[in-house]
Amino acid sequence: MSYFKKVRVRVAPSPTGDPHVGTAYVTLFNYILAKKNRGDLILRIEDTDQSRAKSSSEQQIFDSLKWLGLQWNEGPDVGGDYGPYRQSERQHIHLEYVHKLVETKKAYHCFCTPERLSELRQQQKKEGKNPKYDGHCLSLSRSEVDENISKKIPYVVRMRVPETGATSFHDAIRGKIEIQNSQLDDQVLLKSDGFPTYHLANVVDDHLMKISHVLRAEEWISSTPKHVLLYEAFGWELPTFAHLPLLRNADKSKISKRKNPVSLIYYKRKGILPKAMVNFLALMGWSFGDDKEFFTPEDMVKKFELKDISLGGPIFDVKKLSHINQNYIQNLTEDEFVEHLSTEVFSRTYFKQLYPLFRERLTCFEEFVDKASFFFTGEIDYAELPLIPKGKDVKLMKEMLKGLLGKIEQLNLWSHDELQNMLNDFKNEISWKPKDFFMPIRLITTGRKDSPPLVDSLVVLGKEIVSFRIQKAMNHLK
Ligand code: GLU
Repeated sequence: MSYFKKVRVRVAPSPTGDPHVGTAYVTLFNYILAKKNRGDLILRIEDTDQSRAKSSSEQQIFDSLKWLGLQWNEGPDVGGDYGPYRQSERQHIHLEYVHKLVETKKAYHCFCTPERLSELRQQQKKEGKNPKYDGHCLSLSRSEVDENISKKIPYVVRMRVPETGATSFHDAIRGKIEIQNSQLDDQVLLKSDGFPTYHLANVVDDHLMKISHVLRAEEWISSTPKHVLLYEAFGWELPTFAHLPLLRNADKSKISKRKNPVSLIYYKRKGILPKAMVNFLALMGWSFGDDKEFFTPEDMVKKFELKDISLGGPIFDVKKLSHINQNYIQNLTEDEFVEHLSTEVFSRTYFKQLYPLFRERLTCFEEFVDKASFFFTGEIDYAELPLIPKGKDVKLMKEMLKGLLGKIEQLNLWSHDELQNMLNDFKNEISWKPKDFFMPIRLITTGRKDSPPLVDSLVVLGKEIVSFRIQKAMNHLK
């Protein structure tokens, strides 16, 4: 890398679900690296997987990162000189670059049917080999390719990976990483739906957006050799690569919502202060030194060096997060404290949502505190609640809740009608009686038999809290 090259880093989340704590973690370290070097942070939305992209998810990513104070310099919402910053709007650019690779014989068309590929995989599995494309279409002549295309036979474009040799790169945190080319598959670059894959779009966009450092999560290490081959195929200079250690559960597995909530929206609703969350995330894989536990991004910028990131899997420990949050709450001024309670926890907007639910349910206002308490607490104690209806057992109940979580995940909109329809359809699908189905859901999400109407309550509680409570009830049922 030339000495005076400007530091330009990026975060490239895919808008496929809840804004993830992992996205905030990667954004924070990129933000610090940019600030440290007076560089720029770019936010790029990687929405090439159209079947999984959700438009609400993109807005939630913006909102959550802003909530944490991690502002980017260029992105879909703020613009910049290297846009568009939404990958789906760059399809024409990606196609142009796929074409270049085909022209220079670094990539080729593949017309193999899904059936052939699946047979090939089965065969390789039987023989104890790694599943890998066998190069069947590599030898097609140009006229054969043209003929197939004119006959509208579906195709993908694959990268031509050298059969021998090795591909290596230097990771700024981990040192040299090398992989034998024989281990790499002829990666699909362009899918049959005409959209590029992550690998192609990511490399082309990083290059065109002049990204100097690719600082991302560990799970992408195995993709990096493929990216290096793409940079070489195009004749482009490599950026500096660095892979942050994955956030883990206490049992060292990769963090997942089955163990702890992973949505930033959940933590905001729970009442974690943004500064505490940022401080906590900074401690994942990096330490200030001198046992200093509490610090701001500004403090961090002064001391931060990429090479100081430690690789021992950082534990996303919610108790530690609460401990840090407690310290930040302790240090709020009286004004800040009151401000937070009245604008975040007990906000007018929230009370307005509760108004239709409680207007007819109170004989005096002191009852509100008890009756509405489940709208203000994240945790419900399931020990005393009869969660399993007569005739059902733990296994059936857990299966039902698992299915329900899946349905919730697939919902496009968190609205009364969508929820009502989903619940009715799911109940019919599994043939449960209304009472057996709705009462446990009511108990799990509200902790009471006599809550306001269930679906209205779920709408106000929000997807994150509802999912968390269902997951918690599932973990409780043994
Ligand atoms: N779209 C990828 C993700 O969702 C980006 C990975 C990368 O940073 O290259 O994490």
